[in-house]
Amino acid sequence: MRYLIIANCYKELEENPSRLKKIEILSDFLSKLRRENNKEIIYLVQGRVFPDYNTKELGVSSQLIKKAISKSIGASEEKITNLWKKLGDLGLVAEELVKTKQQRTLSSKQLDAEKVIENLRKLSEFVGKGTVEKKLSLIAELLTSASPLEAKYIVRTVLSDLRIGVGEGTLRDAIVNSCFPDKEKKQSSVLVQEAYDKTTDFFYVFKKACSGEKSLKNIELVPGTAVKVMLFLKEENIKDAFKRVGKPAAFEYKYDGFRMMINKTEDKEIKIFTRRLEEVTAQFPEVVEYAKNNINAKTFIIDSEAVGFDLKTKKYRPFQEISQRIKRKYNIEGLQKKLPVEINVFDVIYYNGKNLLNAPFKKRREIIEKIISEEKWKIVLSKQIITSDEKKAEKFYEKALEEGHEGLMIKNLESEYKPGSRVGSGVKLKPEADDFDLVVTGAEYGTGKRAGWLTSFDVSCRHQNKFLEIGRVSTGLKEKEEQGLSYKEMTKKAKALITKSKGKHVEIKPEIVVTVAYQNIQKSPTYSSGFALRFPRFKKLRQDRIKSDIATLEEIRKRNVG
Ligand code: ATP
Repeated sequence: MRYLIIANCYKELEENPSRLKKIEILSDFLSKLRRENNKEIIYLVQGRVFPDYNTKELGVSSQLIKKAISKSIGASEEKITNLWKKLGDLGLVAEELVKTKQQRTLSSKQLDAEKVIENLRKLSEFVGKGTVEKKLSLIAELLTSASPLEAKYIVRTVLSDLRIGVGEGTLRDAIVNSCFPDKEKKQSSVLVQEAYDKTTDFFYVFKKACSGEKSLKNIELVPGTAVKVMLFLKEENIKDAFKRVGKPAAFEYKYDGFRMMINKTEDKEIKIFTRRLEEVTAQFPEVVEYAKNNINAKTFIIDSEAVGFDLKTKKYRPFQEISQRIKRKYNIEGLQKKLPVEINVFDVIYYNGKNLLNAPFKKRREIIEKIISEEKWKIVLSKQIITSDEKKAEKFYEKALEEGHEGLMIKNLESEYKPGSRVGSGVKLKPEADDFDLVVTGAEYGTGKRAGWLTSFDVSCRHQNKFLEIGRVSTGLKEKEEQGLSYKEMTKKAKALITKSKGKHVEIKPEIVVTVAYQNIQKSPTYSSGFALRFPRFKKLRQDRIKSDIATLEEIRKRNVG
């Protein structure tokens, strides 16, 4: 398929903010793609070249893009920098410069989508000497054959900033429209969503959907590819929790760590994914060992919480302290010794070749009890009681909090495992929260001794596909990195994501998720959400969260009222 067809589709999507219109545009595009052999092109619609569970990065900085534009179009880097300042987007810069070049040369070769995918995939493969040069040539090769519109979107794709407003839900609905135009929409939508939650791969889902509903239904779990985790609703007290999940229910400690899906494949390989679908196998060698030695099964997908602990005092540590292990690429062993984790297993969805998604929770628990050889501080089962008695449940709750856990998870014994859904068959219970997970969308440079640092940050909640500001946070950051979340760390992270700057203020691509505590919420015309957090302060950085996990406007409205 010609890349120009995709570029035109991007353009239309960018120009039409309405979700319904976007679905229509995408459905038309997918109907064309249905006729192509290579349906992997669907990744490009997501601004990607790999399935969602594959978190390989293209590793291309804005500086490198500037060089690639310069090499392919022949403009000086200074000219590119000036134009970037003016237009605020390197994609637009590339478009503009290719336009001027074409007026001069009139030479443009045809660019295929397959070639774009091939070159971008190669970008993620290089390491070591000569990497920059090789990456530069691959991008420049694409830009040399690109039309202005194509150049714009190639640059944006390489920078992972496509800006066409297509999320998972929009793509799902477009697949439904193009593959099942005559079927009942809601039912087909559930089917496509379930297939995606099991595989986290829209190419695979689309390919199956093209062959009909039956193929989609038959999609199986495959250990070794990421699955979306099941999420839980929140209740305020034990009584309401019983009302929601029924009696008797399983009560488990809610551990304060991060979610780990531990897989063992047919080839006996262990693979670990976070709830963001990032693969973190290399970062947790000790967990690989526990999975090999302490889980007695040929193949599995196990759901668990990894919790950090202090080797000397044998006390659990807050999530924030161990979160750095998720991203660490060097000296992994040293960090492992300093910040070890204990695996608390609470579910299993695949065991010895069998999909257990539809098995009742009590059966799944039986299986983990059977196959896990517990070893304290290595791998254990989540602590659990089964009861119908409110008093017993209250006691268990108190004990969990006393022992320093976050609260309880309360689960229906008969329920299925629903990947990706926030279902009512399980709920969480924890003391009244006075914080939200929000995303950073802007920032301002400090003055005096903090002049080079970004010191105050605009934070936003989510409303459909938009991010709406709800406050500006400047307290809670530390001077030194050892003390917690520091100015230095936040500045480094935020600077890499600047999309526009005006005076001391910068706009930030919404990627950094933070937990922000506050005293109360007020209605306020100052921010686009219509609400303002009073006395907001940073609590922690949530490296395990993505922007779709943050608080919604609806949740904020509810807390403001109640
Ligand atoms: P929170 O911010 O309260 O941790 P969340 O957004 O992570 O919530 P929820 O589904 O609301 O996700 O809460 C469940 C989370 O609690 C799980 O994602 C998991 O990481 C963690 N957890 C800890 N212990 C358990 C347990 N025993 N069973 C299930 N989840 C557990």
